Amino acid sequence: MSKVLVIGAGGVSSVAVHKMAQLPEIFSAIVLASRRRFKCDAIAASVKERFGYDVETAEVDADDVDATAALIEQVRPKLVVNLALPYQDLAIMDACLRTGVDYLDTANYEPRDEAKFEYKWQWAYHDRFREAGLMALLGSGFDPGVTSVFATYIRKHLLDRIETLDILDCNGGDHGQHFATNFNPEINIREVTAPARHYEDGRWIETPALSTKQVFDFDQVGEKNMYLMYHEELESLATHLPEIERIRFWMTFGDQYLKHLEVLQNVGMTRIDPVMYEGREIIPLQFLKAVLPEPASLGETTKGKTNIGDIATGTKDGERKTVYVYNVCDHEEAFRETGNQAVSYTTGVPAMIGAALMLTGAWRGEGVFNIEQFDPDPFMEMLNQNGLPWQVRELPEPLPF
Ligand code: NDP
Repeated sequence: MSKVLVIGAGGVSSVAVHKMAQLPEIFSAIVLASRRRFKCDAIAASVKERFGYDVETAEVDADDVDATAALIEQVRPKLVVNLALPYQDLAIMDACLRTGVDYLDTANYEPRDEAKFEYKWQWAYHDRFREAGLMALLGSGFDPGVTSVFATYIRKHLLDRIETLDILDCNGGDHGQHFATNFNPEINIREVTAPARHYEDGRWIETPALSTKQVFDFDQVGEKNMYLMYHEELESLATHLPEIERIRFWMTFGDQYLKHLEVLQNVGMTRIDPVMYEGREIIPLQFLKAVLPEPASLGETTKGKTNIGDIATGTKDGERKTVYVYNVCDHEEAFRETGNQAVSYTTGVPAMIGAALMLTGAWRGEGVFNIEQFDPDPFMEMLNQNGLPWQVRELPEPLPF
């Protein structure tokens, strides 16, 4: 029986808490805290109505280590699940170290003034967590998260050696808006406008953002344009699965999204450095976030499916093989179950699963870990049981590009 403290009350948090409430034998008590309490109260009310489970709520500014540590002391959870924003990661890790509690998140730390998507700051906490006998699990979302677990599953069961790995992230959903992002707009736009980078033969190859395009036919979605991008799991996979010669990440974008993004970029609205406006500094991207639809508000209108997975080429018993492991998630079904669209759903479910595996002791370690450092099997089993079933296909040949 374990109590968790969840921090952040956006779409991902909402899904994770709805999912935790369906496993009361693991999550015996949930306290949900965020910057604005009314968001927590709304999630708690929905969970109560759907599953009859009582979630306690609280307010905290997670940038404030003292305030977060005080809340942890008061709640005394077994685990803190950080579903706020990447900016809060280090402050929440500090609060966990101070209070002696395990930690989990879904996105790596980001300094506010630079889009880096690097693990170095969080990896630097390894010795402190190890010495304290605590565990931190990084990147327990879909990508990073499930895509990294798919890679270790392939390595354990489908191929003896992986030579190339391509992660394909397709959102075939339509929310009916001219321009909206399906998770936090600020983080999403920072990610998409950063230069593309992939890993090949021990080095990183950088190309301009959105400059490499391929067409791929996604199961249950159809043909989509996908673009080479940098994504944070590339760094940890290259570190923890060093045999892989090439790792790439692809994401689909519609022409409409790219057209708007190009204009916003050209006029300077995606900048993350401060500009003076009416006598005070503002960050254009933060202002843009304020006028865009909240991702959580898109659930009601989004139709279609996501399809995210890994294609790996390598050898099995001396024979060359290409395998594809993927999940398809339906926006409308996700909304019916949790009141959130599939992008929040595909992140919130793995956050719940990572938390469950830590609480039950199925995954245990002392220090800071990425998800691919653990046995994929219990995680893969829980994906099937908790709304994100996956499929395995053998492809006749490697990707032609
Ligand atoms: P949202 O913007 O919807 O939610 C973020 C929440 O964090 C909001 O409730 C916000 O509060 C709260 N928050 C922000 N700052 C603070 C603070 N200082 N103290 C306390 N709470 C704070 O984001 P999402 O739910 O879409 O995403 C959540 C996380 O999941 C992000 O880190 C995102 O990068 C990650 N993610 C990971 C994915 C993966 O596959 N690994 C995919 C998608 C997202 P308020 O409501 O007051 O603004």
